[in-house]
Amino acid sequence: MYVNGEWILSNSGEYFTVNNPSTKEVVAKVPKANAEETKAAITGASDALKKWSLLTAEQRAKYMLKLRDLMLEYTEELATIMSMEMGKAYNEAKGEVVYAASFLTWYAEEGKRIYGETIPASAENKRLFVIKQPVGVVAAITPWNFPLAMMTRKLGPAMAAGCTGIVKPASQTPLTALAFAKLADMAEIPKGVINIVAGSTKAISDELFNNSAIKKISFTGSTNVGKELVRQSANQLKKLSLELGGHAPYIVFEDADIEKAVEGVVASKFRNAGQTCVCANRIYVHKNIKEEFAKLFVEKVKELKVGNSLAEGVDIGPLVNESGLEKVKEHVEDAVEKGAKVLYGGAEVKDASGYFYIPTILDNVTEEMKIMQEETFGPVAPITIFETDDKAIDAANNTEYGLASYIYTKDISRAVKASEALNFGIVGLNDAMPGVAQAPFGGMKESGYGREGGHQGIRDYLEEKYISLGL
Ligand code: NAP
Repeated sequence: MYVNGEWILSNSGEYFTVNNPSTKEVVAKVPKANAEETKAAITGASDALKKWSLLTAEQRAKYMLKLRDLMLEYTEELATIMSMEMGKAYNEAKGEVVYAASFLTWYAEEGKRIYGETIPASAENKRLFVIKQPVGVVAAITPWNFPLAMMTRKLGPAMAAGCTGIVKPASQTPLTALAFAKLADMAEIPKGVINIVAGSTKAISDELFNNSAIKKISFTGSTNVGKELVRQSANQLKKLSLELGGHAPYIVFEDADIEKAVEGVVASKFRNAGQTCVCANRIYVHKNIKEEFAKLFVEKVKELKVGNSLAEGVDIGPLVNESGLEKVKEHVEDAVEKGAKVLYGGAEVKDASGYFYIPTILDNVTEEMKIMQEETFGPVAPITIFETDDKAIDAANNTEYGLASYIYTKDISRAVKASEALNFGIVGLNDAMPGVAQAPFGGMKESGYGREGGHQGIRDYLEEKYISLGL
């Protein structure tokens, strides 16, 4: 663990293991943090806050950019670790390192633009000001599917705002987080500014929620856990931001550029083996172009190479673990039982060393199938047809989720109307990869609240204080 600038073991002497989903082999044993180590991390972060919060934005930016440079210098090492612990295809993992580093670059600069306000007073002898200050010590609870980017998307704005923090990475992916801490150490980030504790999820989380030194918690993960954390946050009215699950619709209108729409859906659906919160999950294609779209889609998917995530040229690695694989199998079986047609794939890879599933395309999918209701989190693309724009939008909005959505059309009026009608925090308009550091990322409805990225992403790490001055 990395606590207050020191590498420590668990006081209990316990460890937990991390397994490679490509081979099922043990990658590493990691010291298991409990409440005690979490408390030590919170104390370290509280002490560090006193100095870190008083540095100028430029001084903090220097540290952040040094860490960013080291991340880029060690891209291959970080990507290898990430790929081994959670199965992301190596080239894609390298892409995540660059994406993760971009949050440090962007927020190092944004920290210099934390402007206050002056307000005209109603009395001659008064002056009114609003200043913005760091909220204090923050905690980040992160998922396994973007083990590096979800950390920097939270720590970037937190550090820039003058906060210090504790990260609890997913139990599947503590190694990427610890490697990041190693780089923070090398960048000479002052001790206590960044702390990493992984292990006993409940003990760590309870300490984070019950310790009054923690002023804000940012969570990325499943909707069910998010709801539980909202209940837990009530005790101390802890500030909480939630980036939760999604069930993204991908609408291909009749006038779309079909080649681009297929290229986009392959990228959106199959990256990270379909395990992203913004993956295309429900593909609505106009009935007049469905055959052409499906034919090209199958051709492209046949070209994807499945295999050990570290092997050369692999596009799709394994599912993260056995239950991830079981969920994919269950969704496909349920769909086929209820009348879906398998256009490609539809089975796990035979005699595989890990949790591999063949990229799959299903046709004739209907709304009552599980795959249209729940996050599959796997490489399965369900296609359904529509006839009118209104029907497509209604079907797309018919979900409790509201994270990402996609539209493919060449008609500008249709594009604007559909973008406005979709109840999602993100609309990819002829764009299957909308996520960037400078834009707000987040959901509506049960996909959570709060935004990460962009100038919006730093707001949650700042308190606004009103000062009324009598002259
Ligand atoms: P998860 O099971 O909710 O876990 C996320 C994190 O929460 C992990 O660190 C996990 O620790 C921890 N956790 C689990 N139960 C907890 C509890 N009762 N109290 C406190 N912490 C708890 O989600 P996941 O399976 O790792 O990640 C996949 C989910 O994340 C999907 O639903 C995906 O859509 C969502 N996601 C959303 C975004 C977004 O920006 N909206 C981005 C990426 C992923 P352990 O690993 O130790 O259980």
